[in-house]
Amino acid sequence: MARPEKILRLILGDQLNSAHSWFQRPDSRVSYVLMEIRQETDYVTHHIQKVAAFFAAMRAFADHLRRQGHRVTYLRLDDPGNRQAIRDNVLQIIRSQGITRFEYLLPDEYRLDVQLHELSASLPVPCAADDTEHFLTHRRELKDMFAGKRRFLMESFYRRMRKRFDVLMEGEQPAGGDWNFDTANRRPYDGHVPIPPPLVFENDVSGIIETIRRSKVKTFGEIDPRRLIWPIDRPQALKLLAAFIADGLPHFGTYQDAMTVKSWSLFHCRLSFALNVKMLHPLEVVTAAVNAWKEDPQRIAIQQVEGFVRQILGWREYMRCVYWALMPDFAEMNFFGHDLPLPDFYWTAETRMACLAAAIGQSLKHAYAHHIQRLMITGNFALLAGIHPDEVDAWYLGIYIDAIQWVEMPNTRGMSQFADGGIVATKPYAASANYIRKMSDYCGTCTYDPKKKHGEGACPFNSLYWGFYARHRERLASNPRIGMMYRTWDRMAAVERKRVLRQAEIYRRDLNAL
Ligand SMILES: Cc1cc2nc3c(=O)[nH]c(=O)nc-3n(C[C@H](O)[C@H](O)[C@H](O)COP(=O)(O)OP(=O)(O)OC[C@H]3O[C@@H](n4cnc5c(N)ncnc54)[C@H](O)[C@@H]3O)c2cc1C
Ligand code: SF4
Repeated sequence: MARPEKILRLILGDQLNSAHSWFQRPDSRVSYVLMEIRQETDYVTHHIQKVAAFFAAMRAFADHLRRQGHRVTYLRLDDPGNRQAIRDNVLQIIRSQGITRFEYLLPDEYRLDVQLHELSASLPVPCAADDTEHFLTHRRELKDMFAGKRRFLMESFYRRMRKRFDVLMEGEQPAGGDWNFDTANRRPYDGHVPIPPPLVFENDVSGIIETIRRSKVKTFGEIDPRRLIWPIDRPQALKLLAAFIADGLPHFGTYQDAMTVKSWSLFHCRLSFALNVKMLHPLEVVTAAVNAWKEDPQRIAIQQVEGFVRQILGWREYMRCVYWALMPDFAEMNFFGHDLPLPDFYWTAETRMACLAAAIGQSLKHAYAHHIQRLMITGNFALLAGIHPDEVDAWYLGIYIDAIQWVEMPNTRGMSQFADGGIVATKPYAASANYIRKMSDYCGTCTYDPKKKHGEGACPFNSLYWGFYARHRERLASNPRIGMMYRTWDRMAAVERKRVLRQAEIYRRDLNAL
C-alpha cells in the first residue's frame, strides 16, 4: 500500500508572508517548520534587536498559522531536539515524521539558495521550490533587461516599473509631468515642520533575550528587552504604515536626505524590516501612499509621494535584481583594493567626529539609521579611509534591523563602496565635510572644523576626500562625472596639495584616534 502523502514545508525567518498561496487553506497532509538556528545567528555578528525581532516575528507568525488551522513545528533556539542547521533539522523531521515530500520558498540570499538547492538534491524524498510571491520582479530580470550593457541604469528600470504597474501614471505620461522630482527634494532640515515622534512598539522579548544570552550567541548593540520597538506582526506593520502615511509622507521627499541631531528617524517610514520579512507587500505600501496622495493632493504633494514610490518600486526592486545579476562574484569585488580594518568606533560610537558618533550611536541604540546616514556618513567615511569592503559589508549586515544580504550588499559594496567599479553608481558617493555641513546640523557640535583641510582640528573628511581621489586617480580620472573634481585639485597650490595629502596619511595611519 502506498504511504500517505506527508509534505514538509520550510518557512525561513524572512518569509513571513501570510498572503502567500501556501497558507490559503489548511491541509492535513502539510506541516510547516520554522526554526531558530545557530547557522543563522552566527554567520555574522548581529545587533541584538535584529535577532530578537526576527525570532519574535517568526514566533508570532507560527502562532498566526496555528490559529488558522495549519500544522506547525517550531524549533526554538534552545529546544533540545534542535540541530541548529537547516539541513540537519529537515533530515531529522523527514525521518521522525515520515515525510514524503519537501518544499521550500526560494530564498533571497545566495548562500541559502545554494544550500537549499544542495539539500534538495541529497534528500531521500522529492523536493520542490516555490516563489515567495513578494517581489515585483524576477531574480534575473535586470540581467535580461540590460543584456550586453556594462551599467544597469536604475532610472530606466524605475520608469519601466512605473509603466508596468501603472503607478503614478496618467496614460503613458508620468503624473505631475515628471518622472523625477529630486531637485524639489533633498533639503536640509530647517525646523519649519515639526518632526513627528516615531511610532514605536513595546514588544516584550525578555524571554527571547534570555535564551539568546543563555545560548551565548554573540551580539552587539542595545535593547530594552521589555520594549522592542520594531513591528513583529502584520497588524503592527500596518499601524506603522498608517502612521507614516499620516505624519511622514507629507514631508518625506523634502527631507529625505536631511540629517539632524534632533531626530533619529525624521520623516522616514521605518518599514524596511516589515517589508524585508515580507509582513507587508511592496505594492500594498506603494498603493497606500499613492491613494493618500490622490485623496488629498494638497496635503501630500506629488514630489513627496514620487520620492517614496521611487524608493520601493525603484531602488528596492532594482537592488535585488543587481544582487542576483552579480552574485556570487559580487561578494569578492574590491575595485579600489581597499584593505584597512574597520575602526573600532564603528562598534562603540566613541569618536570625536560628531557625525559618525551620531550615526553610529543611533544605530547601536535603535538598529536603525536612515539612508543618507548610511551612505554619506558611515559609508562615505569607510570609502574615503579605504576600509576593506568585506569588513564594511559585515558591519552593515550585522547592525541594521533590515539587513539581509540581497539588499545590504548592493547598497554597501555597490552603491556606497563603489567596489563593483561603477555598476550600481555612476561615480563614487564620496563627499567632504561641505556636504555634511550643508545637509546636517552635526558640524555645529563637533570638535573638528569642517572648513579646515589640514592642521590642528581639521575635519578628517576633507583630507581623506582628496586623499581618496589622489590615490585612485588612475582608476577614476577617465570618468566624465569626476573630471571636474580633478581639475579643482590640480588648480590647488602644490604646497597646499602636499599638506592635505600629508594630513590624510596621518589620519589614515591611526583611524582609531579620530
Ligand atoms: C550602505 C547601505 C546599506 C544599506 N543596507 C540596507 C539593508 O541591509 N536593508 C535594507 O532594507 N536597506 C538597506 N539600505 C537602504 C536604505 O538605507 C534602507 O532601506 C532604509 O534606510 C530603511 O529605512 P526606512 O524603512 O525608514 O526607509 P525610507 O527612507 O522611509 O524608504 C522607504 C523604503 O524604501 C526602500 N528603500 C529605500 N532606499 C532603498 C535602497 N537604497 N535599497 C533598497 N530599498 C530601499 C526600503 O524598503 C524602505 O523601507 C542600505 C543603504 C546603504 C547606503
Ligand atoms: S566637522 Fe567633520 S567630522 Fe565633524 S561633524 Fe562635520 S563633517 Fe563630521
